[in-house]
Amino acid sequence: MNAMPDPDLKPGDEAVPGTPGAGEDLCETCGGSGKLADGKTCPECEGTGRVMRGIGGG
Ligand SMILES: [Zn+2]
Repeated sequence: MNAMPDPDLKPGDEAVPGTPGAGEDLCETCGGSGKLADGKTCPECEGTGRVMRGIGGG
């Protein structure tokens, strides 16, 4: 139960899209390309090249 709280949330996302104070940023794992060095789809951003970053609070 509750295994997928948000279908839009990717492994590399730090915040749910639409979260106040969060913004989209380049995925550091793939450098925004959406692919890893070996050509596989980046698991952190799921190939989008972007992840949600929490802004502030730090
Ligand atoms: Zn990525």
